[in-house]
Amino acid sequence: MTDNNVTNENTNNDEIRQQRHKQRQQKLQQQVQQGIAKATAEKGLLLVITGNGKGKSTSGFGTVARAVGHGLTAAVVQFIKGSWECGERNLLEQHQVEFAVMATGFTWDTQDKAADIAAAEKVWARAEQMLADPAIDLVLLDELTYMVSYHYIELERIVRALQNRPPAQHVVITGRACHRTLIDMADTVSEVQVVKHAFDNGIKAQRGIDW
Ligand code: ATP
Ligand code: MG
Repeated sequence: MTDNNVTNENTNNDEIRQQRHKQRQQKLQQQVQQGIAKATAEKGLLLVITGNGKGKSTSGFGTVARAVGHGLTAAVVQFIKGSWECGERNLLEQHQVEFAVMATGFTWDTQDKAADIAAAEKVWARAEQMLADPAIDLVLLDELTYMVSYHYIELERIVRALQNRPPAQHVVITGRACHRTLIDMADTVSEVQVVKHAFDNGIKAQRGIDW
C-alpha cells in the first residue's frame, strides 16, 4: 500500500466516524426534543436527596439559591443543628429566606432524648405552617430523614403535611436512609454515593466546603 492510499483510507475512516457521530447526536437531539414536547405538566415537586455520599444538603441549598435567583420565595427547616455556623444561612437570610432550626444539637451531643424530641416537635410545627403557606414556593427540609428513623416525628404527620401542601409548592427533603414511603411519594429522587471523602484521610471539615 502506498503512502497516498494510507492517507486516503485514514481520511475515509475519519469521515465515517464523523458521520456516525453526527447521526448519533441527531438521534439524541430528537429523543431530547420528543421528551421535552411530552413534558408539559406543571406542579409543585417533591424531591428527595438521600444516600451516604457528600452533597445532599449542598444540593438542597443549591436548589434554594436557584429558586431565590428567579424571585421565588423559599424557606429552610434544619432538623439537625450542629454547633457550627451555616454559610448558606448567612447568605440566604440576606435574601429573605426564613430559617427554622432545631434548637438543640442531636442525641450524640446532648444524650437527652426528651429534649431532642421537644426540639423536633417545635421545629416541625413551624415546618407544618410553611407547608400550608401558598406564599412559600419552595421549602427545604434539611436532614428530615433522621426525624423519621429516630421516631422523633410521626411519618403519618409528615405524609399528611406533604400531601396537603399548596399544589404549586416545591419541597426538597435531604438526609441519609430516607424512608421508603417518602421515596415512593417523591417525584424526583437522587441517591448520592460515596466514592471517597477527604475525612477518611484525616482531613477535617473545611469552612465553605463542609459547612
Ligand atoms: P453536605 O452538607 O456537604 O452536602 P451532606 O448533606 O451530603 O453533606 P451529611 O450527612 O448531612 O451530608 O453530613 C454533613 C457533614 O458531614 C458535612 O460536613 C459533610 O461534608 C460531611 N460528610 C458528608 N458525607 C460524608 C462522608 N461520606 N464521610 C465523611 N463526612 C461526610
Ligand atoms: Mg446534610
